[in-house]
Amino acid sequence: VPMDVATPKNTKNIIKKHGIVLKKSLGQNFLTDQNVLHQIVTAAELSKDKGALEIGPGIGALTQQLAKTAGRVMAIEIDRRLLPVLAETLSPYPHASVMHGDVLKLDLADLLRQHFEGMTSVSVVANLPYYITTPIIMKLLEEKLPLENIVVMIQKEVAERMTAQPGSKDYGSLSIAVQFYCEPTLVGIVPRTVFVPQPNVDSAVIRLRVRENPPVQVEDADFFFEVVRACFVQRRKTIYNNLLVRFFSKETKSELEALLLSCGIDPIRRGETLSMEEYARLAAALSGH
Ligand code: SAM
Repeated sequence: VPMDVATPKNTKNIIKKHGIVLKKSLGQNFLTDQNVLHQIVTAAELSKDKGALEIGPGIGALTQQLAKTAGRVMAIEIDRRLLPVLAETLSPYPHASVMHGDVLKLDLADLLRQHFEGMTSVSVVANLPYYITTPIIMKLLEEKLPLENIVVMIQKEVAERMTAQPGSKDYGSLSIAVQFYCEPTLVGIVPRTVFVPQPNVDSAVIRLRVRENPPVQVEDADFFFEVVRACFVQRRKTIYNNLLVRFFSKETKSELEALLLSCGIDPIRRGETLSMEEYARLAAALSGH
């Protein structure tokens, strides 16, 4: 019977046996709780005809569980020292493979084509290194990779921002970017105590179901996000003031109020109160301006 690495005792023994000193700088906090792993794998909706791409397998805690459920697993790990450990912990699962590399530098579209041919869909499933959570998720979304779900464990505060709705203090350009590409669901909150070593923050598992089409129509996504970001530059200021600084000159300044009113948006509102639909309208008006 193959051994599951995800218990505190097994994790500590494996790390010790291989003489590995974990690196905080790489976000190496390993999950040691089978219930949480089960929650993650269930949320990913995998089956034998589907693939799973894991980012940062560590010593293979999640990889093992993915291999039991998915038809093929590919895991990208930046730390070379972990490769011999993974060779051992994944030896019972020949359809799981590991690639050495930095996820932010790899051509993921190409990797998906090469490794998951014949699978009906692929999902990203990972306990992410927290120092690069947002860059990783934005890379997955902006490259428009053909993914079904992105199920990730991330810092609790970041999960709250990704799932936030207009009017909440957590709502910002990250909420809008994530919700433009996906439908997010909070799967659960995870206490810091289930990791070895324990991180300084609590975590959350979220599922991002990748949308086929964005919920609003925008002519130019880059410009849409530029408008969104501009409205949050000074959170406490009105959109009128934020937009003025970013898009208007002394000569054109008088046009802004009318432009906002033509979109049905009160100039004294703050960025955190506008829905994605209102941002889309605003971007359309500003681009014609
Ligand atoms: N999946 C394991 C688990 O759940 O126990 C380990 C998760 S740990 C939070 C994050 C992992 O990501 C570490 O193994 C770390 O070495 C790896 N990692 C960090 N930066 C990375 C990068 N840029 N590309 C790929 N892997 C990375």
